[in-house]
Amino acid sequence: MSLSIRYSGSSKSSRIQTSCTMSLPLDTRIRTLARSLGTDYYGIADLGPARDFILMQGGERVARYPVADAMGIRLSDDLVDLLSERDVEGAIVYRHNSYEVVNQMLDQVAVRVANELQKAGYHAFAVPASKRTDEGEIRGILSQKLAAHLAGLGWIGKSCLLVTPDHGPRVRWVSVLTDAPLEPTGTAMEPGCGECTACVDLCPCRAFTGREFHPDEPREARFDAAACDRFFRETENAKGVAVCGLCLYVCPYGKRKGTARDSHG
Ligand code: SF4
Ligand code: SF4
Repeated sequence: MSLSIRYSGSSKSSRIQTSCTMSLPLDTRIRTLARSLGTDYYGIADLGPARDFILMQGGERVARYPVADAMGIRLSDDLVDLLSERDVEGAIVYRHNSYEVVNQMLDQVAVRVANELQKAGYHAFAVPASKRTDEGEIRGILSQKLAAHLAGLGWIGKSCLLVTPDHGPRVRWVSVLTDAPLEPTGTAMEPGCGECTACVDLCPCRAFTGREFHPDEPREARFDAAACDRFFRETENAKGVAVCGLCLYVCPYGKRKGTARDSHG
């Protein structure tokens, strides 16, 4: 089954009954909690425009929430830069710190935020940061990058990663779905890839078509997730660690101008 994201009119106003004045203290409390737990990015997404897509992917138990609290932790540039060296030790270190540790931190943030929302009297659903729930479709119950995109934190690049203006795709995401009266922080950001095709050109399994994101098109129009998945399995079999991330490494929006090695000779 291929899914496309068709944005429609916002349903926020019909679903959120509580007044803005009441939402402000809770908004501030949740944002402060998320920041205190180490997140670098925070946004609230009105999920109404993508409800049909969310319903197809996760069902009503996910689509019934009108907003998502999207939170991100920036990855260490020094560790991301290891990806270009393609050696086993670098891959092991990158995978442990930038994937396993950061995902655990994000999951803990989501649980704490969801608990706070629940204590305030609202429904809250912490979506695991990186948990595949459908092996066939190679996806989880909700696209984390979609929530961050709708919160105005970045655009979905030709790499299918969420690209932030400041740190490109070097950010990992988690979200909490809720019916709390949180005020959306933005709207879907327009693609900023322009003529760039760096991720498309570097991908070792040619998984990207080079098409820009469009909400009416399925992921398959841009990205062959199965090809990327096969490449990971092949790498794991050959080297004992499943890492690639070249599409994340190469994006000019996150890539540093110089490295520590450059500056220290
Ligand atoms: S992780 Fe590697 S194989 Fe997968 S899409 Fe990115 S560059 Fe291609
Ligand atoms: S590498 Fe270039 S094309 Fe790929 S996501 Fe980044 S800006 Fe877009």
